[in-house]
Amino acid sequence: ATMPPLLSAIANSGRHGVLVKSAVVMERLGQIDTVALDKTGTLTEGAPHVTDIRPLPDSGLTEHQLLALAAAAEHPSEHPLARAVVDAARERRLPLATATGFTSTPGVGVTATVDGRTVTVHAPDRDCPATTDPVSELEDAGRTAVVVATDGAPVGVLGLADRLRPDAAATVQALTALTGAAPILLTGDNPRAARRLAEDAGIGEVRAALLPQDKAAAVKEWERAGRKVLVVGDGVNDAPALAAAHTGIAMGRAGSDLALETADAVIVRDELATVPAVVALSRRARSLVV
Ligand code: ADP
Ligand code: MG
Repeated sequence: ATMPPLLSAIANSGRHGVLVKSAVVMERLGQIDTVALDKTGTLTEGAPHVTDIRPLPDSGLTEHQLLALAAAAEHPSEHPLARAVVDAARERRLPLATATGFTSTPGVGVTATVDGRTVTVHAPDRDCPATTDPVSELEDAGRTAVVVATDGAPVGVLGLADRLRPDAAATVQALTALTGAAPILLTGDNPRAARRLAEDAGIGEVRAALLPQDKAAAVKEWERAGRKVLVVGDGVNDAPALAAAHTGIAMGRAGSDLALETADAVIVRDELATVPAVVALSRRARSLVV
């Protein structure tokens, strides 16, 4: 017997490196008219590196002390920014204290107890005068800034930079051609870093500084307006949006377990360009289904 079109499309998607979880999903992929892409780890390689280490003058900390403190708190986290901070400390051969009582808040940051102090590494608080200058300076340079605080008081700022995936611009073009509209960038990162990156990828519309529930709210708003939204993301912070979407695709290689479980399809080969490929496969299969 010949294979039904949707099943052979699933097999073809597998050959492209995309695991589509069901025939229903394979069919839905071809219906989408709006694409929302996460930034860190989806549009970018998700391998940011620490570019700047800025202890606040009053903190009494050296650059190495600040980095070691942040790395100790970030050590249990699976977030790409956390991995970058830990790697930067390792490269400098800094000894890391053991953190206890680790908690992470998706889209915000982490907290842990290090050497008897509560250490947090988190997104900048826009109303904190002590960190305004280093944060805006770094963000103007297109960096992601995170603030390190001990026992609630800021002690320094770290700057991080990430690269666009090599196939990001081509993927944006292909998705624009397929849906008739450019993809939209959804990110928890700051608007300045996000806009810089979006421009390089050919994306015009950017929604930045979003918490995980804000990403989901944006998707639901479009769905209510009758649009069929495809969300592509990798993080725990993308799970609510992946769940709210008409179809959700997770980046598999570095994606969080929650994103992989929540998504309808998983990119196993680490290429963003597989997204327009599977949408096209779905359209073709749907045209054969009678
Ligand atoms: P994106 O939507 O671009 O993938 P996230 O939602 O994961 O970004 O994170 C949004 C922001 O929250 C980051 O830019 C950072 O400021 C902060 N943040 C999240 N997780 C961490 C972490 N583990 N350490 C430091 N900052 C974090
Ligand atoms: Mg991400």
